[in-house]
Amino acid sequence: MIIDCHGHYTTAPEPHNVWRDLQKQNFKAGGNTDPAYPDISDDEIIESIEKNQLRLIKERHADLTVFSPRASTMAHHVGDESVSIAWTRRCNDLIKRVVDLFPETFIGVCQLPQSPGVPISHSIAELERCVNNFGFIGCNLNPDPSGGHWTAPPLTDRAWYPFYEKMVELDVPAMVHVSGSCNPNFHATGAHYINADTTAFMQFLEGDLFKDFPTLRFIIPHGGGAVPYHWGRYRGLADMMKKPHLRDHVMKNVYFDTCVYHQPGIDLLFKVIDVENILFGSEMIGAVRGIDPETGNFFDDTKRYIDALAISDADKAKVFSGNARRVYPRLDANLKARGL
Ligand SMILES: [Zn+2]
Repeated sequence: MIIDCHGHYTTAPEPHNVWRDLQKQNFKAGGNTDPAYPDISDDEIIESIEKNQLRLIKERHADLTVFSPRASTMAHHVGDESVSIAWTRRCNDLIKRVVDLFPETFIGVCQLPQSPGVPISHSIAELERCVNNFGFIGCNLNPDPSGGHWTAPPLTDRAWYPFYEKMVELDVPAMVHVSGSCNPNFHATGAHYINADTTAFMQFLEGDLFKDFPTLRFIIPHGGGAVPYHWGRYRGLADMMKKPHLRDHVMKNVYFDTCVYHQPGIDLLFKVIDVENILFGSEMIGAVRGIDPETGNFFDDTKRYIDALAISDADKAKVFSGNARRVYPRLDANLKARGL
């Protein structure tokens, strides 16, 4: 079985996006930030999925995608908390509809109603709604709701603890995932995303979060940002800071996906990072949608890179499904209930 741990609904029906535009206009004008939501038919949702993600999932021989709202449009920096709450609920509701229409192919992960300066405890209710009512198996946690200005405390700060306590209680992991950048220094997917992945890892290294939460789990996407490439730097910094070995200090709780869009990058990831810590992901249809002229294949067809690795079938099975089932226990339970 092949589980893609990183997919977003980047092809949501247009009325959903129109609603968001109206919401933003209303906020600017001091109006209703939760206007009436348009009727979106099942057929519109089915078309948006069948022509896009589902087609590619079939073409690339994957089975199941862990599916969440489009990350770049979470835009927690837009508006205020009421804007974020209303938008987040609409986005998560839409994911739930996709999962209900394609229960064999998608399982949900939620966006959170984060907002700059607002305590993360305010996101607990939405996590509970999505996990308990919708059967979602995790969440996307934005370490920088300001959208590129980094005004929130580090992920190891106690300000985040109430949310972590709920994650542990519900036994769900979070993917550390920023959203759009409103800082022109940082291109969203080219710089802000990779910065955030790298930054989150370094925060975990500097702190002692996993002493307080030994079962808390994070997926750092996009291959862990710059971390695998600079693994020696991080091992050296941990040593200088008198931290335990990274294997014990961070890597019992942190996982990287395979959203790295060329073979040499995947080769390096697998050379440096223990196979137990790598989850198959493609982020399709997402940040990079074109065809690599050097290979003739889509950049984000990441399964090809794993297939090409000289690792055992047992290790490939871990990357394609075993590790995901371990990191997302609710996914494992869902699959077991289906006899898978
Ligand atoms: Zn993503």
